[in-house]
Amino acid sequence: MANIHQFDVLVVGAGGAGLMAGLYASKTAKTAVISKLYPTRSHTGAAQGGVGAALGNIEEDRPEWHTYDTVKGSDYLGDQDAIEFMCNEAVQAVYELEHYGLPFSRTPDGRIAQRPFGGHTNNETGKPVRRACYAADRTGHMILQTLYQQCIKNDVKFFDEYQVLDLLMVNGAAAGVVALELSSGELHVFHAKSVIIATGGHGRVFEITSNAYAYTGDGAAIVLRRGLPLEDMEFFQFHPTGIYKLGILITEGVRGEGGVLINDKGERFMDKYAPHVKDLASRDVVSRAMYLEMRDKRGIGGKRYLYLDARPETINKYAALDGRTNPDGSPYVISGDELLGKLPDIVDFCRTYIGVDPVTQPMPVQPTAHYTMGGIPTNKFGQVIHDDQNTPVPGLYAAGEAACVSVHGANRLGTNSLLDLIVFGKHAGLNAAEYANGADLQPLPQDPEDYTHQQIDFLRNGSGKENVFDIGNEMKAVMFDDVGVFRTEEGMAKAVEKVRELKERFKQISVADTGRIFNTELLNAWELSNLLDISEVVAVSALNRKESRGAHAREDYPERDDENWMKHTLVWQRDGKLEIGYKPVVYTHFEPKKRVY
Ligand SMILES: Cc1cc2nc3c(=O)[nH]c(=O)nc-3n(C[C@H](O)[C@H](O)[C@H](O)COP(=O)(O)OP(=O)(O)OC[C@H]3O[C@@H](n4cnc5c(N)ncnc54)[C@H](O)[C@@H]3O)c2cc1C
Repeated sequence: MANIHQFDVLVVGAGGAGLMAGLYASKTAKTAVISKLYPTRSHTGAAQGGVGAALGNIEEDRPEWHTYDTVKGSDYLGDQDAIEFMCNEAVQAVYELEHYGLPFSRTPDGRIAQRPFGGHTNNETGKPVRRACYAADRTGHMILQTLYQQCIKNDVKFFDEYQVLDLLMVNGAAAGVVALELSSGELHVFHAKSVIIATGGHGRVFEITSNAYAYTGDGAAIVLRRGLPLEDMEFFQFHPTGIYKLGILITEGVRGEGGVLINDKGERFMDKYAPHVKDLASRDVVSRAMYLEMRDKRGIGGKRYLYLDARPETINKYAALDGRTNPDGSPYVISGDELLGKLPDIVDFCRTYIGVDPVTQPMPVQPTAHYTMGGIPTNKFGQVIHDDQNTPVPGLYAAGEAACVSVHGANRLGTNSLLDLIVFGKHAGLNAAEYANGADLQPLPQDPEDYTHQQIDFLRNGSGKENVFDIGNEMKAVMFDDVGVFRTEEGMAKAVEKVRELKERFKQISVADTGRIFNTELLNAWELSNLLDISEVVAVSALNRKESRGAHAREDYPERDDENWMKHTLVWQRDGKLEIGYKPVVYTHFEPKKRVY
């Protein structure tokens, strides 16, 4: 029998969502956080641009405007009750982070600084509003450091470099998880009353991505294998500005500071596609515009990239043409030093990785797979739901990018993910603790690590000819090419077939390292099995949805079809086959209308 630990609340994942959940659960319940990475190495640390909240520190702003922008950004697929809740909680949540010690950038009079971001507007003028609260271009890094310190202060117990491989469910309720300790290869059973899954996204299903190697959809795959559904997995966001070929993200904050996209003819093309907000349209709109420019041979040198120009002279030229002003009404002008002060990491990335200095040269960019709007379905209390009636699974919660509340619907606005983490992370933590304080532990199953042993033995004992890298590369290529920015029936059908073929080939893999200590090869193989399961769900959901909405853009069905498709997709894996169902979208105030920027 493995090592057994007992807690009231278990959080799987130590990113922004997991730490916020752990912090709030620990206020009233014995709480542990388990993470395959050391907590401050979690992917939240990569978040650059900011966290959205209508503080109105620089100009007038209101939570109702933030709510409407988010509903519109979601292409009306987001659940409006949850969006309203998130945008109303945002202001308090950001001040809470400030009080925990987060070193936000400041206005000259000492308030939290804010900048514009795509899709965030003053609803009366339609112009971009400064809503993103930021700590230079290291906002996520600061969130992680701040929350980790608060968790330590609050006696949260951390299990770092433990990889969770299975969720234990007893009598239809969560009972704990099974994890492998990376340093020893030993299995541990964590027995708990509540489990919160906060394992982040799965961008590694795509070839060009801004996502870290650890983004392998572990939580979503584990839940799927335990018979629970995944929601709206066809909606995957491609961020417009990844560094060409590398995918490393150049934050939208660059365009927020005035940077513009330029084609091979030297034209600023976004005013054709989004005449009002131009380069600050929502991400799906900008990514598609870039794709069309490249398709019509206006990529730089005819290649599949464009320029993001943030040289101060370019910013100042277009700011003058757009009539952009500072809050005091003076013309907006930026210097090279100011750019460096506001975006130090971006300048550094470009200098280091591609030898381009953004202060004097334009940056080569292409859309990069960035964020999953879909995930483990939850309600706004963080409870995982398992059917089209929104029935909660007792004791099981999810938050952050792994979850689908759904506040992002078909397309997420920038800065709303960090917001999602802190708002729903907090409420998942509070509610999981409250549940645990009123519930008994479920009994452990007879042999709790049985399924985990089966998975590991299969990987360790395989002697076939296939290897993890070939299968992974083929999966990433077909997903990027055929389930990417633009999609067709033929391409997606090909992708489904290819992924299924790769799943068959995966049965023949062998792993050279059979050791126990830090066997990363074995774990990479396990992660690939997750990515394959997730790819199949993404491709099948995308093929099934016969319309274009948000990030899901079909060339064969170019229009949004509210009559037939204003509904969430749910997908279950049953006996190795996928089953599709639906659940309704929640409306409060906003009737769907055509989305124009
Ligand atoms: C480059 C970049 C820039 C971004 N900038 C912004 C921004 O400016 N504003 C914004 O709102 N959003 C931004 N985003 C999106 C946002 O950062 C992420 O969506 C968010 O940080 C995800 O947080 P999370 O807590 O859900 O997951 P993560 O921070 O990824 O944490 C996941 C955790 O789960 C753990 N884990 C995973 N699998 C397992 C397992 N099997 N067992 C144990 N532990 C596991 C990991 O160790 C990690 O601790 C950006 C994203 C990227 C990639």
